[in-house]
Amino acid sequence: MNYFTSITTGVKSLLTGLGITAGQMRRKNVTLQYPHEKPELTKAYRSLISLVQFDDLETHDCVACMQCVKICPSFCIEIEGGKVEGIKRMRASKFEVDFALCSMCGLCLDVCPTDTLEYSKLYDEADGRRDWVFDLLDPFRNFEDEFVEKQRVSDAKLAKEKAAKKAASLKAKAEKAATEAAAAAKAEPATKPQPAEDSPDTTDPAPPSNNGAKNSNGSIGENQGGSE
Ligand code: SF4
Ligand code: SF4
Repeated sequence: MNYFTSITTGVKSLLTGLGITAGQMRRKNVTLQYPHEKPELTKAYRSLISLVQFDDLETHDCVACMQCVKICPSFCIEIEGGKVEGIKRMRASKFEVDFALCSMCGLCLDVCPTDTLEYSKLYDEADGRRDWVFDLLDPFRNFEDEFVEKQRVSDAKLAKEKAAKKAASLKAKAEKAATEAAAAAKAEPATKPQPAEDSPDTTDPAPPSNNGAKNSNGSIGENQGGSE
C-alpha cells in the first residue's frame, strides 16, 4: 500500500511542478538578456548628471554662471569658463563632477538657468575605476569651435538688425517731431488773439494826471486852478 501511495504522490507532485512551470512560461519576462538587451528606463530614472545637447545649438548651453557650483551640497562640481571673444554668451571651458561625492540630489538641475543639466540614463557605469571625476564637456569638444563661429555670425546679424531698428526708431521719432512742429506752426496764427481796432491801446502808458501836480514852473495845473 505504501508503495502505491508513494507513486501517486510522486506523480501528483510532478504534475503540480509542471503546471507551475507551464504557467510561468506564458507570463511576460521581467528579466533581460543583459548585455545583449537594453532596458527601457523611466523618466524618473536618476543616474549621473550630464549636459543636455540642444538641437538648435547642436551642443550644450552651459554659460559658466556657477549657480550649480554654489548650490551643490557635496561640493563636487568644478567649473571654469568666461567670455569668448566675438560672442555675447559666456561658455564653460571646464566642467568636472566627482560622482564619488555626488548624491544625485538634483539641486544643480533645479537652479540651472539654461536647463542644460539632466540625469543621464547610464546604468552600467560600474567598473574597477577608483577615480569618479567625469569631464562633462568631453562629448562636446568637437562641437565647440563650430558653435562659437555660428554664434559670432548670429550675434553680428542680431547687432546689425538691432542697429537698423534703432536707426528706424530714431528716424520715426524725428519725423514725428518735425510733423508736430509743422502742425503747431500752422495752428499758431489762427489761435493768436487779434487786437480789436476800437479798443484802447493798452500798451501805451497812461497820460500823467496833473491833478494836484505842479508844472515845471511851480504853478498849480489848469484844472485845479479853474475850479478855485
Ligand atoms: S546632484 Fe546634487 S550632489 Fe550631485 S552635483 Fe548636483 S547638486 Fe551636487
Ligand atoms: S547652473 Fe547651468 S549654466 Fe550655470 S554653470 Fe551650472 S550647468 Fe552651467
